[in-house]
Amino acid sequence: MNNTDDRPDLATGTNVHSIADGGIVRGRVDQDEVLLVRHGSALFAVAAHCTHYSGDLADGLVVGETLRCPLHHACFSLRTGEALRAPALDSIQCWKVERRDDVAYVREKLTAPAASPTRAGAVRRGEPDAVVIVGGGAAGLAAADMLRREGYAGKVTMVSADSAPPCDRPNLSKDYLAGTASDDWIPLRPASYYTEHGIDLLLDTRVSSLDVERRFVRSDDGREFSYGALLLATGAEALPLAVPGAAPGQIHTLRTYADSRAIIAKAASAKRAVVIGASFIGLEVAASLRTRGIAVDVVENARVPMERVLGPELGRLVQSLHEAQGVKFHLGQSLARVDGSSATLRVTLGDGTILETDLIVAGVGVRPALALAEKAGLALDRGVAVDQYLQASAPGVFAAGDIARWPDPHSGARIRVEHWVVAERQGQVAALNILGRQQRFDAVPFFWSQHYDVAIKYVGHAEGWDALDVDGSLERRDCTVRFKRGGRTLAAVTIGRDLPSLQIEQELELLG
Ligand SMILES: Cc1cc2nc3c(=O)[nH]c(=O)nc-3n(C[C@H](O)[C@H](O)[C@H](O)COP(=O)(O)OP(=O)(O)OC[C@H]3O[C@@H](n4cnc5c(N)ncnc54)[C@H](O)[C@@H]3O)c2cc1C
Repeated sequence: MNNTDDRPDLATGTNVHSIADGGIVRGRVDQDEVLLVRHGSALFAVAAHCTHYSGDLADGLVVGETLRCPLHHACFSLRTGEALRAPALDSIQCWKVERRDDVAYVREKLTAPAASPTRAGAVRRGEPDAVVIVGGGAAGLAAADMLRREGYAGKVTMVSADSAPPCDRPNLSKDYLAGTASDDWIPLRPASYYTEHGIDLLLDTRVSSLDVERRFVRSDDGREFSYGALLLATGAEALPLAVPGAAPGQIHTLRTYADSRAIIAKAASAKRAVVIGASFIGLEVAASLRTRGIAVDVVENARVPMERVLGPELGRLVQSLHEAQGVKFHLGQSLARVDGSSATLRVTLGDGTILETDLIVAGVGVRPALALAEKAGLALDRGVAVDQYLQASAPGVFAAGDIARWPDPHSGARIRVEHWVVAERQGQVAALNILGRQQRFDAVPFFWSQHYDVAIKYVGHAEGWDALDVDGSLERRDCTVRFKRGGRTLAAVTIGRDLPSLQIEQELELLG
């Protein structure tokens, strides 16, 4: 974080003509880092850092009366500070801007938006008396949070099969696994949040059936929860890898906090690891284990890592990032068998290569958790089929996150993606629609992935393309790669260019 003393004191006044439309001036007020932002003739003063991962908002993008964070595309209202779009859930501080002639003065903090109701009470007309959320992940937590933020006073019950409260899942393969983030980074909200906001969070509880006629769900332990509105946010499960010779538990997968802790426990004494699958998660695991000083071999069926999603050029770039850190790739290879029962395991590849290892982690993809929706007879379409309002085929039932396939106005296709920010934003929009707001889900998909000091940012959605447009240099890790079809940009990857990523997101929004 920068030293605030080096920044101009915004209390002493700033000439408004020195700020371009859409311009951002870094400054301070007392000890606070504050940005003075102009949109048209309006001036706003807001905190300089994102409430998600402290991204520097001065490097962000002003879109209308909003400010977007360059790190993970959170979006804040300049007028109220509200976190309008995930991944930030908490608002930023605002200051009053006083203007005298051509000079703007920033001195007084504005009061924070009113706190959400702390306990259940009377609901407003048209709102359900009780909301049940199945799933304690990104979409589930964002939905519960939005219900309370919007003043919903009915009962909110969140039922989660996880043993831990909603957690920062993306970090489980990154800093946390690398040992550079502590446990307190992981919960999305502190334990007190759930009681303070009147959210009944039931952990270690799996919903086993759903009655859409009589509107209740039943959990494994026989309890029943009635709902006026239901959000299904059951996410996805890591695909297990069945390999001849492998005993149960020998091949780790990574989805939950508990999974990450189990890998860390093994990593404490491991010297060598084999990662199966050069997926985003597989390669993030490889990077984190290298940070721990563990030798890593990656085994992958494809000839180029992540080619299907990123294309060959970016796939090879990602491979080279890992090779530069000592990761050894075995590409175009399958896994024939795993032997050994004690600490040392032997992994045999299809071509007969044998890798001795202490730890095996598979990152070979996920499957959406659809069993509940399927059993309840909801319409499925390689996911839970939802409309533009995220409503499923039964009244009062919504779906969000990794399980939902929705009509994406930008690609014109019905898509399902596995992105953190999309899951949270869908949870938020589903919550608004539960409250009768009729809000379309039209966000441009966005995800990021971290490999050592290189972040890959992806906006849009491209399952196929006829041209890849590269601007800048992949080698210098300073590039924008557009995935195009028929001359139109469907999606773009940026490396080392955060502002262009936000600009392309806005461009795709305007096209969609
Ligand atoms: C290690 C890791 C790293 C990732 N990194 C990134 C990243 O960098 N960027 C990115 O964009 N995305 C990333 N993702 C993907 C992102 O985390 C998911 O897209 C997101 O979590 C999906 O949110 P969700 O709410 O749909 O599901 P989840 O967050 O998986 O939550 C699903 C919840 O449903 C519960 N559940 C399932 N079935 C039942 C049931 N029958 N009854 C009760 N509860 C049930 C589960 O226990 C869980 O609490 C990562 C994922 C993982 C695992």
